[in-house]
Parts: sequence; structure tokens; C-alpha cells
Amino acid sequence: MRKILETILSADASADEVASLPVPASYLGAVVLEAESEMFAGMASQDKDPAKSLHVRDVPTPQPGPDEVLVAVLASSINYNTVWTSIFEPMPTFGFLQRYAKTVPGAEQHDQPFQVVGSDLAGVVLRTGAAVRNVKPGDRVVAHCLNVELTSPDGHNDTMLDPEQRIWGFETNYGGLGQLSLVKANQLMPKPKHLTWEEAACSGLVNSTAYRQLVSPNGAAMKQGDVVLIWGAAGGLGSYATQLVLNGGGIPVCVVSSPRKADLVRSMGAELVIDRSAEGFRFWSDQHHQDAKEWKRLGAVVRELTRGDDPDIVFEHPGRETFGASVYVARRGGTIVTCASTSGYEHVYDNRHLWMRLKRIVGSHFANYREAWEANRLIAKGMVHPTLSAVYPLAETAQAVREVHANRHNGKVGILCLAPQTGLGVDDPELRERFLPHITRFQS
Ligand code: NAP
Repeated sequence: MRKILETILSADASADEVASLPVPASYLGAVVLEAESEMFAGMASQDKDPAKSLHVRDVPTPQPGPDEVLVAVLASSINYNTVWTSIFEPMPTFGFLQRYAKTVPGAEQHDQPFQVVGSDLAGVVLRTGAAVRNVKPGDRVVAHCLNVELTSPDGHNDTMLDPEQRIWGFETNYGGLGQLSLVKANQLMPKPKHLTWEEAACSGLVNSTAYRQLVSPNGAAMKQGDVVLIWGAAGGLGSYATQLVLNGGGIPVCVVSSPRKADLVRSMGAELVIDRSAEGFRFWSDQHHQDAKEWKRLGAVVRELTRGDDPDIVFEHPGRETFGASVYVARRGGTIVTCASTSGYEHVYDNRHLWMRLKRIVGSHFANYREAWEANRLIAKGMVHPTLSAVYPLAETAQAVREVHANRHNGKVGILCLAPQTGLGVDDPELRERFLPHITRFQS
């Protein structure tokens, strides 16, 4: 691994030199183990500790198939899907691996008693399969997490609709939280040149997801002047949603839960901020009933901030705790666009507010290849910036996931995989200098 690192970090290594590097038979990866998938049975979600179920272990190096690439991973980042995997909710992810193993030749190697998790990376191409044309050894890349076969017509207008669509590192093995990773070649995109490895590795999943939810016609197709209520605006998805709304001429109303997070969203340019902890909203009066007065109170706070406007779009992901309120506060004809249910997936809302006021609920999941590419282009041009707030070494991945599970983080949490230290990997220092205060605003 040392030889790989020395070669790929030297600026003048040729494709042939990188291609001829010996690939080790095993590497270190952050894994969950099938044998432990019942370890939290009967416990409440908040008591399940990812630090107990995630381990950094030696795993056998997979063989890239014809359309696949083995990447040397310099850095990765924590996504909430790794929280779900590590607490085995809503189900252990090993079933996904077993199903994938039966689909295409070569996929059998994903069905293992371990799963290397992680759905983001920045790194260097090490080996390419025989059919790969878009990248070559030595290329500096980031990966989006859409793993797709595209042998069915269903996915040809929108690759997210392919029946064999999977999230890499969640529904596949050999994800990004390791020294090496196995990806489909069409997951790879150019690494933004002005960013360090760890900065480049933190945007792919959340930025692309927020882009589809808000900007794409497959999501809410936001337009200039739209008021967008953003839950968790200083979190992973929300910190990118806030930037996308501001970029597109919309008006974000950012919901956060602390003064520090309020400062962070203001530092991105948001002016309208709600601290949900200070407001003390309780949308559920007990386990079975919601309190419509609390929905109205949220609506009144939004109207006060916007001088009378209701949200054209509500950016949803907390799920059960907020969904009823989100449906209520959206304006007549507005859109509630949802990609998740962090606080519970059985949502309750008053349907009268939906149909009588002609609102729509749009389900959204990650992003298709084109949307992920467009989202990455915004990062590469310095129009959206990474929201990296903290970096851990690979050996401490479990502690990093624990922080995200406990909602103690801001923006994104990075992981150094092969990169020996932070700050490496910048190929365009001039562009970096121009955007430095924006790139680092979550780091202080
Ligand atoms: P994150 O970094 O933890 O951010 C989520 C934010 O939501 C937190 O910062 C928190 O902000 C807020 N929040 C948490 N619980 C809440 C509650 N009960 N009520 C209101 N706000 C709450 O996670 P993320 O990366 O943004 O992901 C969020 C969810 O989306 C996860 O469930 C994840 O699995 C899912 N997701 C889905 C996709 C997809 O493609 N379908 C993609 C990415 C993420 P405050 O405490 O400051 O309010």
C-alpha cells in the first residue's frame, strides 16, 4: 500500500506506472459483520451504538469486472446510510448483497459475511476492467453512488428508474470507507481540482440528492423567487440544499437546532433562520396524535420571516416528526419533496390540506447519472462548496459514525483513508485561494 501511495501522490506518475503497481491481496476497510446483525435486537434506535458494530478490518481485494474500476481511496466521508447499516435498521443490509450476487456475473463477490460500507470517495484509479473507456489508471476522481445495470428499458430516461438500481456501499459491498474500493466505471467523475482529498470526498451523495430534490424536473424544479423550507439546513443534505436554493435565486428558510448551526447557515448567505429547539415545536402531542396548533405556529413563524409567504417547496427528510407540519405549511399548489424518514417512516398528515390546496408530495432518491454529474460540476466550478466540518482517520470511522448518529456533527464528516494527512490533493491552488473562506466555513 505504501508503494501505491507514493506513486499516486507523485504528480508525474504515468498511467502505465500506476497500472503496473502490484495490487495487494487484501486491504483495510470499515465493515459490519453479518454474524453481528442481531446485536442490537430489542434496543431503541438512539441506544444502538455504531462504535460497537463497525470495525476496521482486513478484507480480500475484489476483482474488477469488465465495466468496473478498482480505486485507491484517499478520502471518504460519512453518510447517514452508514448509520442505518451500522444499527441494522430498518433491516440488515446483507440481504441486499445476497440479492445483488444473483444478478450479473461477477456480482457473487459482493455476497460476503462482511460489508465494506461507504458511499463517497475521492481517489485515484488503480485498475480498470476490459470494457472501461472513460477513465484510466492514475486519473484523480470522485465517485457518485449510483450503481446501475441499464439492461432494462425502464432506466433509459432516468437511470434512477432502472430495476437494478443500487446505492454503492449500502446495497453493494466494497464501498468507499476503505483503502480500496470497487465501483462501476460510470460512477466516476473528475475530482474538483481546487479541493483537498477530504473536501472532494464529502459532497457526492448529499449534493446530488439535494440537486435532484430541488433543481431537477424529477424533483421540485425550483424557480427564482421560490420560498424553500429546509429542515436540517446545517446537516449533510440541508447544507447543500441551502446553497442550491441561494444559487438558483430562491429564498431558503433554514430550520436548525442550535445557535451554532444558525450561524453556519447564515455564513452561507441564508437570512431567514428558525431554531427549532428555541421554538420548542412539538408536532406530536402524544404517540398517536399530532397538534395542528403547532403546525400553525410553524406556519406563522415562516410567514413572519418571509413577510407573508408560505413555502413553495418543503425540503423533507426528518419524516414522521415533521411530515404533518411540512404538508400543512406548504403553500397552495406547493411541493413537499422527500428523500428520507430519519425519525420514522410511517408518516401521518392531514390529507385535506393536501388535496383541497392542490399540493403534491414528490418522492426522490439519490440522483441519476446526469444529475450527479451536474451537481459535481457546481462543486468543480466553485458554485457550491463542501461543508466539511471534521475529519477522522479510517481507524476511527466508528466514532465518526457515532457522532452523526447522535446529531452532534455539522455539515459533513470526512475520513482519511490512504491520505496520510489533511490538506493534500489540491491541483488548482488559484481557484482554491479564490474560494477559501467558503470552502472552510464549516471547519472553524
Ligand atoms: P444529517 O447530516 O444527520 O442531517 C440531518 C439534519 O436533520 C440534522 O442536522 C438535524 O438538524 C435534522 N434533524 C434530525 N432529526 C430531526 C427531527 N426529528 N426533526 C427535525 N430535524 C431533524 O443527515 P443527512 O445526510 O442530511 O441525511 C438525512 C436523512 O436523509 C437520513 O435519513 C439519510 O439516510 C437520508 N438521505 C437519503 C438520501 C436518498 O437518496 N434517499 C440521500 C441522502 C440522505 P437540526 O438538529 O439542526 O435541526
